[in-house]
Amino acid sequence: MQRNVRHSVCPHDCPSTCALEIDVLDGRRIGTVRGAEGNSYTSGVICAKVARYAERIHHLDRLTRPLLRTGPKGSGQFRPISWEEALDRVAAAFVAASQKHGAEAVWPYYYAGTMGLLQRDGINRLRHVMRYSRQAKTICTSICEAGWMAGVGRCTGPDPREMAQSDLIVMWGGNPVATQVNAMTHITRARKERGAKLVVIDPYRTGTAAVADMHLALRPGTDAALACAVMHVAFRDGYADREYMARFSDFPAELEAHLAARSPAWAARITGLDVSEIEDFARLYCTTRRAYIRLGYGFARSRNGAESMHAVTCLPTVTGKWPYEGAGALWSYRSIYNWDRTLIEGLDAIDPATRVLDMSRLASILTGDRDALGDGPPVHAMLIQNSNPATVAPDTNRVRRGLLREDLFVAVHEQFMTETAQLADVILPATMFMEHDDLYQAGGHSHIQIGAKLIEPPGESRSNHMVLQGLAARLGAQHRGFEMSAMEIIDWTLRASGWPDAKTVLEQHWIDVAPPIAEAHFHNGFPQADKRFHFAPDWRAIGPGWARMPTLPDYMPTTDEATAERPFRMVTAPARQFLNTTFTETSTSREREGRPTVLLHPADATRLDIADGERVRLGNARGEVVLHARLFDGLQPGVLVAESVWPNAAFEGGIGINALTSDDPAPPMGGAVFHDTAVWLRSAAAEMPLAAD
Ligand code: SF4
Repeated sequence: MQRNVRHSVCPHDCPSTCALEIDVLDGRRIGTVRGAEGNSYTSGVICAKVARYAERIHHLDRLTRPLLRTGPKGSGQFRPISWEEALDRVAAAFVAASQKHGAEAVWPYYYAGTMGLLQRDGINRLRHVMRYSRQAKTICTSICEAGWMAGVGRCTGPDPREMAQSDLIVMWGGNPVATQVNAMTHITRARKERGAKLVVIDPYRTGTAAVADMHLALRPGTDAALACAVMHVAFRDGYADREYMARFSDFPAELEAHLAARSPAWAARITGLDVSEIEDFARLYCTTRRAYIRLGYGFARSRNGAESMHAVTCLPTVTGKWPYEGAGALWSYRSIYNWDRTLIEGLDAIDPATRVLDMSRLASILTGDRDALGDGPPVHAMLIQNSNPATVAPDTNRVRRGLLREDLFVAVHEQFMTETAQLADVILPATMFMEHDDLYQAGGHSHIQIGAKLIEPPGESRSNHMVLQGLAARLGAQHRGFEMSAMEIIDWTLRASGWPDAKTVLEQHWIDVAPPIAEAHFHNGFPQADKRFHFAPDWRAIGPGWARMPTLPDYMPTTDEATAERPFRMVTAPARQFLNTTFTETSTSREREGRPTVLLHPADATRLDIADGERVRLGNARGEVVLHARLFDGLQPGVLVAESVWPNAAFEGGIGINALTSDDPAPPMGGAVFHDTAVWLRSAAAEMPLAAD
């Protein structure tokens, strides 16, 4: 039988945004999913969880009909209703909340369950037209972005495919073996063809660290201290490129003296690394011209994360590496696409006076914190798309309490009965990426792609765009974007942004919009107003929390430090087989992950008399959770890693790991501090079983 291989794009929250080739079996089913060989970043490789996508898209637990809650909130009791009734009910709840409390009492909430620009961000069009509360998208990227922008000025940099031309690749705070597997393709090429070295900087021995030439397992949240020590060595040992700094940076007069006090010995006390490890890494970095730093997100999920990011971006500037191919640093390519988002997001309808709510502070917002609410009305109605905050948002116990409020109406548009959907009043069944049209950019490379609808959705599932059209009609929300099909908006957006039209992109499968080398390597200056990299950033221009930021690159001792009562620092790193909570529905991913587990150093286990596999209880002022301990010597004593995000239901008492994380906003412009949590740990053997409140 002739195979029907169609192109598509991985929509998941991963910088690789892989180009896919999918066997479409008929109008309703798919077979094998592979990485596109011809795409120069994907290079035929995708991660195992997406290669198994037929298991997810054809899962028998897919939601297929709109549902209405029939029992108490959170009881899980629902009955099917028609789409007409479902959309009528959502619209009526929004109208009622607006009339009683003002339009800002309605808060459409979303994030990156799909990364397609139209289906993900179209919710903003409804928000803007209706003057509903706006959303600061802080749960993932804002800390990194603040730190990157502070120094470099724009989210761009040397092409990640250049890693294949590097002699040293520093993977800082990322684990591409588990997330964005394609980075390993280019790193492996450099190692095979050039004998390049791979250094991983991460609090624990990840899959990537396990295959690296050097692994610096520092204490969580101390990355800026390590970066400052490397710069100290650069100045001390004559590797600082003063000419480059004088020409291409603000090169503050006090920088060298400032760094003179931040020696490897100073950094060793903060990071927990040996002085010799820091010296060795600094020497390797400083003496390798083609050294490429690939920055992940993990190290920045901390109260001092923005400064950590900024400090790391200073390294190729101090050593003058940015101009060379195979050298420099990259966090994200998100700025290179120059999108005109007017139609997708209804930017022409924004009322700048409408309040902005910080999505990472959902717990505080839904439980009535005046500061988090911006002194505006409480939130009384929500539409949640592409997100599962009952599990992934910080401070689960308070999030759950908020979502259970009787005076809050919640509609959830979802693919599965997530833990957020279980708390909803109305549930709407959602399509997956092969069941609708969407437009994709990549954070980790430079391709624009369209994922066209390939198969029919199961049951009555509808795309985000269709749901927004249905609500707009009922709410009287006028915008031409609601009158257009998804592909019409994609086509308009491409052309308005200066790119080829949708037909061309579909025919070519992708277009590569990589910046020219001179631009990517900042040969003519950095994308700051003064064309210079900033060692002394204008933090005031970046976010309202600017006053808490240091003048020069530095370690900020502002993390949730270990204390006698809470002696462990915990990181909730991504589990390889899950992507946030996506793929927690598939049995293969769950089987491969096993069970909620915390990695514990054997020395800590001996001191606390805890055996491998034993139930342990972790806690702090926000809550307590029970996991199984796994003894692991790939981290420092006093550090815990709980690979995540397992559903709450997978834990004893239904209380998941984010019960421990805080919704404190990281300065200067907010962001969730998932890897910045101090906890106590003890054996759970003699304790009462946990139960959700
Ligand atoms: S590596 Fe990332 S982008 Fe590629 S298939 Fe897996 S999740 Fe999707």
